[in-house]
Amino acid sequence: MIEQSKISEIKGVGAKTEQSFRKLGVETVGDLIRYYPRSYQVYEEAVPVSEVEEGRVMTVSGAIFGRVQVSGNRNMQVTTLYVKDLTGSLKVIWFRMPFLRTTLSKGGVITLRGKIVSKKGTLVMEHPEIFYPAAQYDAKLDTLQPVYGLTSGITNNAVMKAVRTALGQICTIQDTLPKEICRRYGLPTIDTAIQAIHFPKNKETFYPARNRLVFEEFLDFILSLRQLKESNVRLENHFHMEEKTQIHAFLKQLPFHLTKAQLQVWEDIKKDMSGPNVMSRLVQGDVGSGKTIVAVLGLMLAGLNGCQGAMMAPTEVLAKQHFESIGTMFSEYGVPLKTELLTGSMTAKEKRLAYERIESGEVDIIIGTHALIQEKVVYRNLALVITDEQHRFGVKQREKFAEKGNSPHFMVMSATPIPRTLAIILYGELDISVIDELPANRLPIKNCVVDTGYRPNAYHFMEKQIAEGRQCYVICPMVEESETLEAENVMDYAENLREELHGNCSIAYLHGKMKQDEKDDIMTRFAKNEIQILVSTTVIEVGIDVPNSTVMLIENSERFGLAQLHQLRGRVGRGKYQSYCIFMTASKTKETKERLEILNKSNDGFFIASEDLRLRGPGDLFGIRQSGLMDFRLGDIYQDAKILQEANEAADWMMKNLSEDEITGRLKKDNLHIL
Ligand code: ADP
Ligand code: MG
Repeated sequence: MIEQSKISEIKGVGAKTEQSFRKLGVETVGDLIRYYPRSYQVYEEAVPVSEVEEGRVMTVSGAIFGRVQVSGNRNMQVTTLYVKDLTGSLKVIWFRMPFLRTTLSKGGVITLRGKIVSKKGTLVMEHPEIFYPAAQYDAKLDTLQPVYGLTSGITNNAVMKAVRTALGQICTIQDTLPKEICRRYGLPTIDTAIQAIHFPKNKETFYPARNRLVFEEFLDFILSLRQLKESNVRLENHFHMEEKTQIHAFLKQLPFHLTKAQLQVWEDIKKDMSGPNVMSRLVQGDVGSGKTIVAVLGLMLAGLNGCQGAMMAPTEVLAKQHFESIGTMFSEYGVPLKTELLTGSMTAKEKRLAYERIESGEVDIIIGTHALIQEKVVYRNLALVITDEQHRFGVKQREKFAEKGNSPHFMVMSATPIPRTLAIILYGELDISVIDELPANRLPIKNCVVDTGYRPNAYHFMEKQIAEGRQCYVICPMVEESETLEAENVMDYAENLREELHGNCSIAYLHGKMKQDEKDDIMTRFAKNEIQILVSTTVIEVGIDVPNSTVMLIENSERFGLAQLHQLRGRVGRGKYQSYCIFMTASKTKETKERLEILNKSNDGFFIASEDLRLRGPGDLFGIRQSGLMDFRLGDIYQDAKILQEANEAADWMMKNLSEDEITGRLKKDNLHIL
């Protein structure tokens, strides 16, 4: 069996499992062995009941105490028991598992591992894994168990089994890293690395394996960027744009003046688009710095010059938001350009009509999601492509877009505050403009870091803001174990909040598992202030602009990376009202304090990113994963900044010492996943 074999060749993988795997993007054996765990469960020593801490996954061991009870309605049956040790007792609940009553009613000693949450002021263990009799736990103690991303029809065990069998059946995996490089950076072989990323014996075998795979991921990314750069450099500009007076008129009518930084970037863009070569530009600006309007000017320039311009957003919610706000601006200020929306959730008929209008050139500005690069879309005179919040897109998508036009101008907008040294590596092929100034009318966000005891005050504060007409976000604690639980978590939280606030305002929730039209509906109603509090997972992180929101409450903020917290906070403070960000944490450790303190005292994304790098030592991997910036599978540009720099060196070395064919060959390998 080789890496290109279909996974059905693995013993025990039948047609049904194969189909479920396909939903996860796993078709070949190569895909499977590179379907890395999302995280690992570390089975640590049980703690005394009196020492459980809110927000953490912990293990307790004790006697089943009193009766096991089942309550709730048919949709949501809740099983409750109490477990007791010498230090106290703890309430434990499971959802939708009423059958546990029979099993557990025998009593005796049990070990439970689950998340500690706070319900109405008491700590409760939610939905734990059961070890009964308690000694079953000993076998797991101190091991790392892989946790895979799942979909319906496939369990974590099934993925583990398939990977284990596949690794047993393959003799060797081809090592595509030059030996020289492995030696220089002390990287293990690919076999060792793959084995250990799935089934690490302990943390000591895990780290080198991960380093190797991250290294490879970064290296391939950098090499493909270099190639892109080489092929881009001399591209001739086929779309010479002329200045248009309508744009001056438009700017005059805007309710604000552009900041100096925005004007400078706009100059850069005009110069590029009228110059001898195609524009490839990254516009980097902190959250709220006003990147959208700069993009709109670029799109107008293309449109008014008789060409089409397209803007791609990472989510439908964001695409719609852009579409609506641009449409409103155009009609309000009399801009004679037509806009079109194109997203995956549109009906076949809607799409067909949109395709027709795009192909005929009836519309000028097209805004959408990935749907913009579907094969069926044919543009007419596409001169400018903008991607918003670029870290969700990669080189491949960019290339696809380029194929759709006669080498259109390219502009990438990003709020990712990457220190310049890293930006030069990651965006090597782009010119960089920075919007390093916030609009003058902004009041700096007021921050506070508080413990969970402050929660009632926080709710009270939100009520007061809502009474003044404002709106609030609550970001719910993350759940690493499962996505279904994540949804439940948000729903539970919203339900609790409704009780706490006695129905005085409208509260809705948002999570990644919701259908697109549900999400859209919630976002639209939130934008109209029909909803006052939005309880959400991090799905709202990118780009949402509702300037009337003034409070951001982040639960379990110790669980997030600093950069991500900064992005989340950027959802408030976008308008003329004083805004507030409340970082709530149950953790009392010095590290958490120090990290959150950085956010507390600064609203500057670049400063935060550099402090983040400074504070991060190697090996805090099990702590926090950043927000998946740039969408690397494993790598994290902040946490793995050192590896990124090494991979950059290695890329230099390879460009110098290997032939072009060798490098291209490496990048064409099936087993590579460059985004
Ligand atoms: P981001 O850079 O995070 O994408 P947006 O482009 O969404 O930020 O802008 C945030 C908000 O600031 C929007 O409501 C926008 O209308 C407003 N805005 C943009 N530029 C200015 C400016 N120069 N002065 C005042 N408000 C501005
Ligand atoms: Mg934006």
